[in-house]
Amino acid sequence: MSDLNILSEQTVDMPDAPYQARHFIDGEFAQSADGQKSDRVSPSHGVVVSQAALGSNVETEAAIRSARAAFDDGRWSRLPAKDRAAILNRIADLIEANVERLAVIETLESGKPISQARGECGGAADLWRYAASLARTVHGDSHNALGDDMMGVVLKEPIGVVSIITPWNFPFWILSQKLPFALAAGCTCVVKPSEVTPSTTAMLGEFLQEAGLPAGVCNIVLGYGNPVGSLMTTHEDVDMVTFTGSTAVGKLITKSAGETLKKVALELGGKNPQVIFPDADLEQAADAVTFGIYFNVGQCCNSSSRVIVHEDVADAFVARVVALSRKVVFGNPMNSDTQVGAIVTTDHQAKIDGYVRQAVAAGAEVCLGGHIMSVPGLGTQFYEPTVVRGVTPDMAIVREEVFGPVLTVLTFKTLDEAIALANDSTYGLSAGVWSENIHTCLEFCRRVQAGTVWTNTWMDGFPELTFGGMKQSGQGREIGKYGFEEFLEVKSLVMRIGRKRAPWVRTA
Ligand code: NAD
Repeated sequence: MSDLNILSEQTVDMPDAPYQARHFIDGEFAQSADGQKSDRVSPSHGVVVSQAALGSNVETEAAIRSARAAFDDGRWSRLPAKDRAAILNRIADLIEANVERLAVIETLESGKPISQARGECGGAADLWRYAASLARTVHGDSHNALGDDMMGVVLKEPIGVVSIITPWNFPFWILSQKLPFALAAGCTCVVKPSEVTPSTTAMLGEFLQEAGLPAGVCNIVLGYGNPVGSLMTTHEDVDMVTFTGSTAVGKLITKSAGETLKKVALELGGKNPQVIFPDADLEQAADAVTFGIYFNVGQCCNSSSRVIVHEDVADAFVARVVALSRKVVFGNPMNSDTQVGAIVTTDHQAKIDGYVRQAVAAGAEVCLGGHIMSVPGLGTQFYEPTVVRGVTPDMAIVREEVFGPVLTVLTFKTLDEAIALANDSTYGLSAGVWSENIHTCLEFCRRVQAGTVWTNTWMDGFPELTFGGMKQSGQGREIGKYGFEEFLEVKSLVMRIGRKRAPWVRTA
């Protein structure tokens, strides 16, 4: 499509050689015992940008053994929280000092634009600092009204060894939503990044070592869901699994971790609605909807892929979103001005296109885009900004995660109908409402089934505000104090003080 804003020049230099990503086990970097590696070919540039060790049961066992020993001997869990916090803050400093290095490899492996990768890697440092601040807040309860001779204390303790499994779409950010919080709580960890984007997680190993994190407290194993991820979710020495990824794999993990009754926290998919009432600031809403669908090429759990707009303003609103879509800068991710980059794999690109073809065959109207896109000099692993109308709530494009730059538009007449449409989903991750009327916004917030609700904005987030999904978008919470609490176990102390117990056995 010729009237799109496509940028092909490059402003950031490519690295001299592919990054060599290695496991980090018991404080040491290592290749796999069997020498297995995989190449990551950049989705935008078509060249090998990293070579990563591919782990087997050997490395995974070693990592779990190391994390178990580090937890059980108390080298981390029994360290004063202020000392744990100091190390987490040093790691945050090292992340900040290395943002450009992290951002370049994150961009080349994922296809996201460099400006966004810089924002995510730099912003991750703040998550580490916030987690460090929480480390020193752990406290329980005391019970002083149990009778004269009794006192009760509820202690909070780290849950133990935590397996952390992350996806490819926000590799460093999602890692930083989990790992520093687990470490702040006093847990020890085994981390597995996606096989598609392993390098920034491997790079973090360098910072953990330099910051003085004791060996074994955080182990990183690179490789596939099977065998590495599977063993991390079934091994009896693991106490908890925290996973971000697809709902399908989340369900598998719930089953496999259930065998040993591990605690499981899941951050899964979303099909998130933004609901536009006719009294909304339509310019602002259109800009937020445009951002919400193209950010990370729509490969985002928080993508606002379902816009639900009042029928009186639907035509004008869609026209505005289409006009804005033409101005969004798509293209070379290694240009600081690019806003939207490449699609992660060709298989995923085919899946996105399949949803659009299927909707068109069922009678939907494509108002913009709807095709694979090429960027001069970079090839064809891109997708046009796409707006689809004339859809019905039962179509796959409306119900399932397309995970691409594809917006669907539904319309409504009444508030009740808008809320019913918003809740007509197996997912419940996030939702947004646009209205100048506070009563409309609050009623929507109370009735919508979503873990996060935005009013007159989209996707603003803060380490303080917890995040997670309802329904099949997940279980448990991440970041904020509720996210931190997920990594804490509770223990009750029942203490007799002063007088003796009345004997149970009648000896007289
Ligand atoms: P995915 O489920 O395919 O993979 C996620 C991770 O799980 C990868 O590291 C993968 O290697 C591993 N894995 C695969 N099979 C496994 C198994 N059997 N046992 C253990 N681990 C296994 O997801 P993806 O394609 O990498 O990411 C995209 C998905 O993630 C989307 O559905 C998206 O909505 C979701 N996501 C959710 C959030 C959130 O916070 N709710 C954030 C980002 C992404």
